[in-house]
Amino acid sequence: MRYLALVFALAISALSSAPRADEPLPIFDTHMHYSASAWVELDAPGILDKMERVDVVRALVSSTPDDGTLRLAKAAPKRFVPMLRPYHEDVDSGNWYMDARILDYLSERLDRGGYVGIGEFHLFDPAAAESEVVRAVVALALKHDIHLHIHTGFEAVERILAYEPRVKILWAHAGMSDPAEIIERTLDRHPTVVTETSFRAGDVAPGGALSPAWQRLLEKHRKRVMIGTDTYVNGRWVFYEGLVAEHRAWLRLLPRDIAEDIAFRNAVRLFGTGGLDRLEGRAGR
Ligand SMILES: [Zn+2]
Repeated sequence: MRYLALVFALAISALSSAPRADEPLPIFDTHMHYSASAWVELDAPGILDKMERVDVVRALVSSTPDDGTLRLAKAAPKRFVPMLRPYHEDVDSGNWYMDARILDYLSERLDRGGYVGIGEFHLFDPAAAESEVVRAVVALALKHDIHLHIHTGFEAVERILAYEPRVKILWAHAGMSDPAEIIERTLDRHPTVVTETSFRAGDVAPGGALSPAWQRLLEKHRKRVMIGTDTYVNGRWVFYEGLVAEHRAWLRLLPRDIAEDIAFRNAVRLFGTGGLDRLEGRAGR
């Protein structure tokens, strides 16, 4: 009985004093893939179910091939925002930037409309950022006024912006291994760059405490950092709840208004609400 009384008392105190910080924090996942390997394991309702369990309300999706993205967007247009990936058939992360055939492929699909970006694509070698194909892809992004979602280190980001400072870049994984100081400097220098933190939860809050360098970065650039999970293999779908939970853990260490910016408001500002009631009117601040 004493235990029940305690639970009751805690519930009452939580209800009566509930600060905004206890309200559910919706997440806009800005790095989702629904590639062919996942199609046999999960359908659109299965993915929506996984999102609902952890209150992921909307997601930026790209897939190999693009059909996976289109399938999700058709099933739930308010919940999925399409991003166009160049990878399909024999075009992959290692060769796409040398294959001029992708330009027709991308142009034809972009002309249909509905995509908010090109990517996620990889630039493992910073020099590839200056290839003719990448230059043409940058021009396509400018023409359609959409983002490039790029998995690469800061060097390639710098090289692209050196020849086209106007292009909008969603920098995947904040460079994956670039330290907070480098990320901060890159965002300082380039106003068209925003980033997402898939794979970086362990760097943001090692051992469960915010890294001082990351805290500085997140507070200074609170309008330019977002959340991502990166479901690039089926194993990451299996652990989707955990991937979101590890981000929620460090978001809780930030002031509520900054956490809201990073959790969903920045992504809503850039990629819209899709008319989702839950997000309408929440992007303004
Ligand atoms: Zn990636």
